[in-house]
Amino acid sequence: MPPARCRGGRIQLVQKVQAVQIVQGAKTVGVMSKRMQKVDCTAHGTQGIGLVCEHVAYAIDRREQVGFFWGDDADSARPDAWCTECERALVALQGASSAEWFKNAGFKIVCAKCWDEAKIICGGFALG
Ligand SMILES: [Zn+2]
Ligand SMILES: [Zn+2]
Repeated sequence: MPPARCRGGRIQLVQKVQAVQIVQGAKTVGVMSKRMQKVDCTAHGTQGIGLVCEHVAYAIDRREQVGFFWGDDADSARPDAWCTECERALVALQGASSAEWFKNAGFKIVCAKCWDEAKIICGGFALG
């Protein structure tokens, strides 16, 4: 499977989540407001946050290359990111409201460093 390409800048999410689960691997360790810009990651310490779809969140530990796409959201340390399946569903909307899509993707908070790992593992992107 070729690495997913950045499609950043194309997508405006119409509805932002205000409360999301914090995950570390497959474990949910808490719930926080996205407005809180820091998370205390057991692996990386206090970090900025990013959101990933639940498929990406679970794929980090399984080291599965599920694809990695991200938006241009700049209100947290990393933009929202999602897998190939979610990207397909998003493209199928053809510009319709993405609110339902956003809910179905089950976005979860990860720390910025975990987000970077997900990008490498799930998207097949090289470091840097
Ligand atoms: Zn997904
Ligand atoms: Zn982390």
